Amino acid sequence: MADLYIGGRWQSAAAGGRRTIHCPADGTRVAEVDEADAADTAAAIGAAREAFDGGPWRSWTAAERGALLGRVADLLERDKAAIARAESLDTGKRYVESEYDVDDVASVFRHYSHAATEDNGRVVDTGREGIVSLVVHEPVGVCGLITPWNYPLLQTAWKVAPALAAGNTFVLKPSELTPHTAIHLVRLLEEAGLPAGVANLVLGAGPAAGAPLAEDPRVDLVSFTGGLATGKHLMAAASSTVKRIALELGGKNPNIVFADSDLETALDFAMTAVFLHSGQVCSAGARLLIEESIHDEFVDGLVEGARAIRLGGPFDEKAETGPLTSEAHRDKVESYVAAGIAEGAVLRCGGRRPDDPELANGYYFLPTVLDRCTASMTVTREESFGPVLTVETFSTEQEAIDIANDTIYGLAGAVWTSDQGRATRVASALRAGTVWINDYHPYVPQAEWGGYKQSGIGRELGRAGLDEYRETKHIWQNTAPAPGRWFGE
Ligand code: NAD
Repeated sequence: MADLYIGGRWQSAAAGGRRTIHCPADGTRVAEVDEADAADTAAAIGAAREAFDGGPWRSWTAAERGALLGRVADLLERDKAAIARAESLDTGKRYVESEYDVDDVASVFRHYSHAATEDNGRVVDTGREGIVSLVVHEPVGVCGLITPWNYPLLQTAWKVAPALAAGNTFVLKPSELTPHTAIHLVRLLEEAGLPAGVANLVLGAGPAAGAPLAEDPRVDLVSFTGGLATGKHLMAAASSTVKRIALELGGKNPNIVFADSDLETALDFAMTAVFLHSGQVCSAGARLLIEESIHDEFVDGLVEGARAIRLGGPFDEKAETGPLTSEAHRDKVESYVAAGIAEGAVLRCGGRRPDDPELANGYYFLPTVLDRCTASMTVTREESFGPVLTVETFSTEQEAIDIANDTIYGLAGAVWTSDQGRATRVASALRAGTVWINDYHPYVPQAEWGGYKQSGIGRELGRAGLDEYRETKHIWQNTAPAPGRWFGE
């Protein structure tokens, strides 16, 4: 079956490229898909350009676009089991977690089905007679959407739903490791009645199939979720045509626990913060900052909890988390742990692959706790994106804030305390796009998501997540024009 979707037609890669997808949980072959190169992406950009400039999509009202997004949400719910299964096979994550992801994806489409019709502009009071001044929102144009492998469909939905709500056309380039749910989503967009050329899909490696989206002058905006190095590269490439750029990059997120917090709950969430999806979460609470007075008791509890986490494949009902996404990624995580130990961290648990022979064909790595870390270590500074928790201690509130902000990243963070004043002070002092107080990880499509500092540029979700995909135009109409006589009086 042809897997690229260009100008409303499913087709194979022009040069005949193919890629085999393997399940990270056991290495089994999932399927073979088409592998695009720059020529396919150029064709997809051409189709998106044509559909934006001259296609029927331009004449759709915001209400019609919103209704289409609502139909897509219904179809996602209809196909939930098939989509969740595909996501689990590509990523190795537990089936139940993929089901949660599909629910979230549907709710993102529902949110933007309503948001499409809200805030479509305003009338400005100019204070001058005979002038009608309107500020209106318009779509940006052709969008290049590039997404990662950790939450493949969810990260895609955060871009596709607002891009369509605002009236854009797009070329989507999902991670080459996890293409199947993007294919399914595009089939649903087609089924929901999206005109040809509005959505285009290219599959393939970043440098070949993705890079043209940042370089091509026919693309007006590139929205990227992925690693910092790729983000910097895309930003530089996008500058040659001054296109809009939105970046959702990595994080090295502090989870701050004060001695006055509900320690049982804080401990439970400290585990979820870092070990959910085996740490392959951009907002993972990978840096635990713990008040020195409760360090021993808290870290002992964490180590006990981490040792008890059951690893397994997507359909193993006893499993609590799954594998890393690839052998190369596991190698990277292992090298961060080794660097941490070499720089003086104390390995309390994990730090290696599991012994269980049933897991031998997957890319598993044991939940790992590195104690007595400092902010200068490589493992605390850089994103390992694996199940690796670093523990640092503090003695005062200011010290906790200083350590938490001592990072190039600024995606998310949390503070645990029973002191409301302290909670508010720390939350406002953290230089991060999301701060949780006595909680970790929840998000809703109504509220913005994104990073300070090198965690990114712009916001997804919420009102700002729609504004990323809209231009703002001021229309000034003089209803009683007469000579102004600036010159030639
Ligand atoms: P990655 O940067 O390797 O790849 C992301 C995407 O970019 C993939 O589709 C890839 O093919 C493409 N790509 C790679 N090189 C490219 C190039 N030269 N030109 C164009 N496209 C290119 O990242 P990853 O390993 O897939 O994802 C993990 C990273 O994503 C982590 O750093 C994580 O923190 C980040 N992430 C951030 C968020 C967020 O909301 N901030 C969410 C999820 C993941």
